[in-house]
Amino acid sequence: MEMKKTLLAVSHLSATYVDRRGTLHVLDDLNFHVDRGEFICLLGPSGSGKSTLLRILAGLLPIRSGSVKLDGKVVRGPQPGIGMVFQDANLMPWRTAEENIRLPLEVQGQANGGAKAQAEQMAELVGLRGFEATLPGDLSGGMAQRVAIARALVQEPDILLMDEPFGSLDALTRERMGEELLRIWGSRDQTILLVTHDINEAVYLADRVLVLSARPASLKLDVSIRLPRPRKPEVRYTPEFGKLAARLRAAIE
Ligand code: ADP
Ligand code: MG
Repeated sequence: MEMKKTLLAVSHLSATYVDRRGTLHVLDDLNFHVDRGEFICLLGPSGSGKSTLLRILAGLLPIRSGSVKLDGKVVRGPQPGIGMVFQDANLMPWRTAEENIRLPLEVQGQANGGAKAQAEQMAELVGLRGFEATLPGDLSGGMAQRVAIARALVQEPDILLMDEPFGSLDALTRERMGEELLRIWGSRDQTILLVTHDINEAVYLADRVLVLSARPASLKLDVSIRLPRPRKPEVRYTPEFGKLAARLRAAIE
């Protein structure tokens, strides 16, 4: 018997915002699957509904019609199986890096020594060794985002959702964080769905790139990125890479 590989299943998903100005149709009959262990990047025009989609997948927003299933079970609200990282690290300024990482475990009632050990292990995984006791105000943007990633991973989520996680970092830090994320992904077999507006970042990181159309967004393109792994930064200058990037750019415009 074949192993069931699908982790996340999005079927006929539509979403609207209703406010004083009226109804905004954001997502329109969106369908896609994410397999366990896959690294998916999601591209789309600004305002197409990428953040809305991620918030729905995280159980933070209601669905108008369609369904989202994680491991066969309908997602009805936030759950430990789903980790989320936003563009801003949103750390608690009075808690050290390690105490921020530990927060989700405390919220779940695990305020014991085990939680501290787990948080320290996560700090090490994301490259924060030596910064465990540092307060967010003394961390660089890249280091703060590492804390946010560790905080999302500490619950061992089945899937990590990332909404433009490196969007506020400078270009070099951003590239370095991409490398780090690939290392973390590879070492844990973590399933990742990452939203970015950077086409090169998407091609470099992903197994598959999904492109949303303009609003109301449906799936415009679903491209497998068959560049060999582990990927080296130089792969960005190969013709294959350039062709993939050009194809994605054309789909977004
Ligand atoms: P993206 O992340 O692709 O840039 P968003 O999902 O943030 O797009 O937004 C999609 C559309 O929904 C935009 O037109 C945005 O203005 C609108 N929108 C986002 N959040 C809300 C909200 N809470 N209420 C009403 N409209 C919203
Ligand atoms: Mg967004």
